[in-house]
Amino acid sequence: MLRISNGRIYDPANGVNGAVRDICVNAGKIVAELPAAAKRIDAQGMVIMPGGIDIHCHIAGPKVNLARKLQPEDHRLDVHPGTAVTRSGTGGIVPSTFATGYRYAALGYTTAMEAAVTPIGARHVLEEFHDIPVIDKGFYVLLGNNVFLYDLLKAGRREDFRQAVAWWVNATKAYAVKLVNPGSDELWKGRRNANITDINENIDSFDLTPLDVIKAFIETVNDLGLPHPPHIHCNNLGRSGNYATTLDTMRAAEGRRAHIAHVQFHSYGGEPGKNPTSKGREIADYINNHPNITADIGQVMFGKATAMTADAPLAYLLRGISGNKWVNADTECESGCGIVPFTYHEKVYIHTLQWAIGLELFLLSKDPWRLVLSTDHPNGGSFMMYPRLIRLLMDRDFRNQEIQKVNQKAIRQTVLADKLARAWAEGQGAPRRRGGRRRHHLRRARRQGAHVQHAALPDQGRRRGHRRPRIPL
Ligand SMILES: [Zn+2]
Repeated sequence: MLRISNGRIYDPANGVNGAVRDICVNAGKIVAELPAAAKRIDAQGMVIMPGGIDIHCHIAGPKVNLARKLQPEDHRLDVHPGTAVTRSGTGGIVPSTFATGYRYAALGYTTAMEAAVTPIGARHVLEEFHDIPVIDKGFYVLLGNNVFLYDLLKAGRREDFRQAVAWWVNATKAYAVKLVNPGSDELWKGRRNANITDINENIDSFDLTPLDVIKAFIETVNDLGLPHPPHIHCNNLGRSGNYATTLDTMRAAEGRRAHIAHVQFHSYGGEPGKNPTSKGREIADYINNHPNITADIGQVMFGKATAMTADAPLAYLLRGISGNKWVNADTECESGCGIVPFTYHEKVYIHTLQWAIGLELFLLSKDPWRLVLSTDHPNGGSFMMYPRLIRLLMDRDFRNQEIQKVNQKAIRQTVLADKLARAWAEGQGAPRRRGGRRRHHLRRARRQGAHVQHAALPDQGRRRGHRRPRIPL
């Protein structure tokens, strides 16, 4: 029995918004009252809230271990010391198992869902989950580029397809089904680094389109009644103009449940090969008006990240932008895999645009139960950035201060500029002028060792500089 006294309580499901009152717990459940002799914790000055659930992150399995091995320098800078009751580990952008559990728990999170596991990697993930302390864990199994399932779809064997999906979910002990850039792996393997660019394009050798695959999984997973709908990483992640693909994918659900992963990375206007613009409002409007759709944000936070994806063609493009060390693999005809260390910089147009689109999507959402906070850890940034992200969303003065520090050309592409203008009109401070300060910031960032991203794809060189990269991630 436990009484937690004097804390400020936030419980949106029950309409409690910052009330100071006691919480009583008996046998793992919240109860109305307890005997006076029950153990008491004084939580004065603290927030009490339901445990956080991270529905999209990457914390276990072969690709996470590849990312750990790829960045030993990251671990040396962030040692997680043991205590009398906890074990030691390493931090950085991809923490060790122990540090992952302790650090999520320290943020108030109780559950984290690993969002991309190949069937062949499932046993590894389950064993690694046993090693992650304190929090609950689950994972989504990658089936969207599975050659065996494509064969069944191609042959029109839909009942066998349904049973195979059910078997794979059960055999791997997955919580949900994940699709990543469906159809792309076949082009990637078969046509020298090619990628799918349209969901109506034919998938090599299979007489199928990504749209066929997406529809089949949405229908099957809804029929099977899985608790979470298909978790879809849409085609064309990071490409200018990809919001049209995202809208097409959401329309393919035809009223059935579907989840769009890291939707920020899929909300870009503009022409392919040119700088993106924001289509945050269009995507937010669609999600607001279609209660069958859920999404998580995939917020970009400035600083270090690690692109860690089953989208192998994307990893190839990112390696061209970053010029960094990387890993790429095909995984037993089940999925692709790519790891690329990456840094987001607040003075780079595209990085700021991505940061701002994430905030736009959050702020334009009318139903926070359907648009979930994530950084797609560690793709958009570490889960350790969540407190800063929550402050960006909940503290308008702080947000406006931060907006003034970033690339203003990008901000003007977004509705954040309107909000900022309104805040200024209300007397909250004047905008900092543009001009010479920008170069000064870049020079200072370089002196401090920041990695300023350049577009360095093999086909375009660096002549255009950091303002015109073609792949916005
Ligand atoms: Zn992800």
